[in-house]
Amino acid sequence: ATHATLPERDCTSITPPYAQLQDKLQTIRRILGNRPLTLAEKILYSHIHNPQETLGDGKIVRGETYLQLNPERVAMQDASAQMALLQFMSAGMSRCAVPASIHCDHLIQAVEGADSDLQRSLVTNQEVFDFLESAARKYGIEFWKPGSGIIHQIVLENYAAPGMLMRVHYSHTPNAGGLGMLAIGVGGADAVDALTGTPWELKAPQIVGVHLRGQLGGWATPKDLILHLAGKLTVRGGTGRILEYFGPGVINQSCTGLATVANMGAEVGATTSTFPYTQNMRAYLIATGRAPVARAADEAASNGFLAADADAQYDEVIDIDLSSLEPNINGPFTPDLATPLSKFGSFVKEQGWKDELSAGLIGSCTNSSYQDMTSVADLARQAKAAGLKTKVPFLCTPGSEQIRATMERDKVTDVLEDVGAVVLANACGPCIGQWKRDEKKGEDNAILTSFNRNFKSRNDGNPLTKNFLASPTIVTAMAFSGKLSFNPVTDSIPLPSGGSFKFSPPRGQDLPSEGFTPGRTTFYPQPTPEPQPDTEIVIKPDSKRLELLQPFGSPFGEHNPRGLELPKLKVLMRVRGKCTTDHISAAGPWLKYKGHLTNISENLLITATNDEGGEVNVAFDHDHSPSESKIDTIPGVAKRLKARNEPWALVVDDNYGEGSAREHAALQPRFYGGAMIIARSFARIHETNLKKQGILPLWFVDKADYLKISSGDTLETIGLADLLQGKNQPIIAIKVTKRDGQTFDVPTRHTMSSDQLKWLRAGSALNHIRSNII
Ligand code: SF4
Repeated sequence: ATHATLPERDCTSITPPYAQLQDKLQTIRRILGNRPLTLAEKILYSHIHNPQETLGDGKIVRGETYLQLNPERVAMQDASAQMALLQFMSAGMSRCAVPASIHCDHLIQAVEGADSDLQRSLVTNQEVFDFLESAARKYGIEFWKPGSGIIHQIVLENYAAPGMLMRVHYSHTPNAGGLGMLAIGVGGADAVDALTGTPWELKAPQIVGVHLRGQLGGWATPKDLILHLAGKLTVRGGTGRILEYFGPGVINQSCTGLATVANMGAEVGATTSTFPYTQNMRAYLIATGRAPVARAADEAASNGFLAADADAQYDEVIDIDLSSLEPNINGPFTPDLATPLSKFGSFVKEQGWKDELSAGLIGSCTNSSYQDMTSVADLARQAKAAGLKTKVPFLCTPGSEQIRATMERDKVTDVLEDVGAVVLANACGPCIGQWKRDEKKGEDNAILTSFNRNFKSRNDGNPLTKNFLASPTIVTAMAFSGKLSFNPVTDSIPLPSGGSFKFSPPRGQDLPSEGFTPGRTTFYPQPTPEPQPDTEIVIKPDSKRLELLQPFGSPFGEHNPRGLELPKLKVLMRVRGKCTTDHISAAGPWLKYKGHLTNISENLLITATNDEGGEVNVAFDHDHSPSESKIDTIPGVAKRLKARNEPWALVVDDNYGEGSAREHAALQPRFYGGAMIIARSFARIHETNLKKQGILPLWFVDKADYLKISSGDTLETIGLADLLQGKNQPIIAIKVTKRDGQTFDVPTRHTMSSDQLKWLRAGSALNHIRSNII
């Protein structure tokens, strides 16, 4: 079919520098002995920073070697962009090192419908949006206003390009992999690296090849492919691995369908997912006004850059026959509990659940393509012709203004509203718990969504809501039936007039015949805006949600009589057992303070266990004043030490800081005066984040020494000065002075590179960047 297109755009800033990438890849191929490469390797390795230096001995061992990468672009969403920008501001740069965009999507709450919800959220979050917009203007970042759509959909429609490497501040970033690129979700600290041009450290992932053969048919959709795969791999099966799809089954799938598959690779923990360049990707690029990108990609593909080499080796290969795939329904409470549709009715019965659906939700960044929406509209038309309306609330979240406006123009919205759908704002809404749903509060009920995640309470905050994931068409068909056990492939719905109605398999349209329409362009940014350095950053002086960051001071200088050793440090506590970034900086109600370091720091380690006594959020202040108690909360004692100008240290257990790249988990201890953390072991990303904030992470040489140090002890580094002065000094001794005056030394190991030592000396990585600019 021929499709009209959006007018061709200037694509200079969004076309990957293919010639340069292929040149670099040639260099790396030589270093690697010309072995065949997977597509994911080609994309990753062509973005290595300074390959000769990084690759050293010439080997990249997948799953082991750390790569230093230079991504081409970064995108941030409104909730987490706040701290990333506050940090970027403190680096003193006048513009971002790579093109960047901000997307206002997470803070919009779904209550009654698109327009009123948007207006209400604008009022509630005005100060955050004003701050983000002013920062965007100052630094030349593209600012997508509230209402413009969901970050991942907008990235796919506007920025994604085959062979590109992009970092997005969020886990479902891999959505852009639908266009044959690598889009990797990162934490805030990594987003700041991208903005400041600091190479990004990533362990070379293993590559899982997913071989697709056959063709989807009937009710099966790309969503069912990934729901099925999630069942096979489980939520941890993709950890540290990229899913690279290949084989004849890739070719016929729409670009947006592939994006759905890539999006939900996050549900199996995959670093990201990708596909070789296809004609359907090309058509999508052209339809979205990016013909110049398509032409450049065609040429790169002709040189073999956008597909795996023949004989490329995968760490594991999974084979899937699409022809035999049936729709799946996954859940509740975990995306890897996959049940084929034909068995779902009996599954519901076996579990003893009520055979009732209480709501159906479609759309989101995962499944609101034109193809999804026209397929759903086809079902709605069939049902309407039979005189049916949806039996339960049926909510639709368009992924972007472009999708919403195209749906409206092509009467898809009319068809959905005719059968009872409520169209919500182009934003995350119910997918991220921004759904006001008082009528089912505290009630056991079941919902079906076409979203990507279904952890308990995620959608409506009610832990009793069983949330299942399915394709938009299965969700829609079920919404007409109102029963969980309904199988539209085989079952009919009784009609009020007698008789019954059975759906025909849905038929959708990949791309709109009349092309996409951009809709309300007032939501959109200026493409490639220039920084406006005179812009004043908008932060209300009495704001509870935003606060300018004050740079952390260097631990070395006149105030420190110990020269280039750290000052004497008091031990705040010995943390017992698992301590993830969520233990260090809890989420939930604290999320609203993400842009306010003073307020969010009140949650420091509040769910961590003190090894002295085994209690949670309890710490001891051995030097308390007569008016204070000895026992306080962990942030309480940390604040006392800060007020007394006493820098402190933590002693922690194995794998400290696992879980995420949340930068608050490193910022907060530093904010209260934390200067050193000695661990039995660290999670690598968090360890790097600590270094970035100017905290010295050290590893016990003998893990048993962990027990020798207690709260109130004084610690002194011995050997750090030599290290800072350039000596090869792998071991740092720690002199421990117990509260009774007894002293002994404990050996520790450091992992500081020469650059990281500069960060420590400057007080933080951003201080170091700023000092170079000044
Ligand atoms: Fe994340 Fe859901 Fe928003 Fe997508 S729609 S970006 S998954 S919150």
